[in-house]
Amino acid sequence: MQLSLPQLSPLPAGPTTPGRRPRLLIVDDQPVNIQTLHRVFAADCQVLMATGGAQALKLCRERQPDLVLLDVQMPGMDGHQLCAELKADPLLRTIPVVFVTAQDHPDDETRGLDAGAADFITKPFNPAVVRARVRTQLTLKAQADLLRELAFIDGLTGMHNRRHFDERFAAEAGRAQRARATLAVALVDVDHFKRYNDALGHLAGDDCLRRIATALRACLRRPTDLLARYGGEEFVCLLPDTDLPGAIGVAQLLEATVRGLALPHPGQAGCVTVSVGVAAGTKTADLLDNADKALYLAKAAGRGRVSWLGG
Ligand code: GH3
Ligand code: MG
Ligand code: MG
Repeated sequence: MQLSLPQLSPLPAGPTTPGRRPRLLIVDDQPVNIQTLHRVFAADCQVLMATGGAQALKLCRERQPDLVLLDVQMPGMDGHQLCAELKADPLLRTIPVVFVTAQDHPDDETRGLDAGAADFITKPFNPAVVRARVRTQLTLKAQADLLRELAFIDGLTGMHNRRHFDERFAAEAGRAQRARATLAVALVDVDHFKRYNDALGHLAGDDCLRRIATALRACLRRPTDLLARYGGEEFVCLLPDTDLPGAIGVAQLLEATVRGLALPHPGQAGCVTVSVGVAAGTKTADLLDNADKALYLAKAAGRGRVSWLGG
């Protein structure tokens, strides 16, 4: 069957990676139905396909589609069951599900919407209508993704915020315990920053924090390393699978890099410096406390240096 496609309006891209094509998952036990929908979206979406619920769930976990177009009646795990599984999983529940089905009784529709579906399209469908409805859902998903992301970003520096750090720290601490791996944290505090603000004003202080944040982030090399703004003039690095010597090495690079910016500091001799407190270990309960104690040691020993606890 050859479909004649109407003039199609453009679909939105995901916000996190500008220009990325939306990723659609089409789930139907009838390959011919998949083909029909594939033709509607192939030109401007990345299209994933599954012929059963279990396969679809696996694809969702592995590929995180932006939207699922879901047939209701399928052997094995049917559309309602798959939708319920998706909505029960914190990592997958934000993916909108649009049912595409031949059943057009209001009860079926209500059941789908109650299960958490975003929309309901009945077969046979009009390609332009399907595109328009999918576009609406993709736009909403993109906006929701952006809001979720903004909630975890620090407005001043653009780095991750304390809330994001707390979540990642809890997740990495659990993982380190299960895998008996070493987790490290480094707390970075700007030295005599009150004097900096007092001498140059708060706006100059903000600018200084932004420069320091950017420089610190450039020091982190592994994709799993995290830099977050921990508080006012304090940053924190989370370094999974890193032992104490490794973490001290990173901390020394952080300290030297900020020193290397050579930002004039009117309130202390020389330029802007940071003190860094490092802690590492397989026991993660005291990690942040220990890093804080180490930071105190670095301050007491004269600032502009790295101190550590643990092993
Ligand atoms: P120390 O070397 O002991 O860390 O001294 P300090 O002056 O850096 O430490 P203190 O905790 O006394 O002061 C921190 C200062 O950081 C005071 C506060 O005004 C400033 N600060 C915190 N957050 C911000 C911010 O977002 N922007 C600016 N400009 N300054 C900030
Ligand atoms: Mg401080
Ligand atoms: Mg300080």
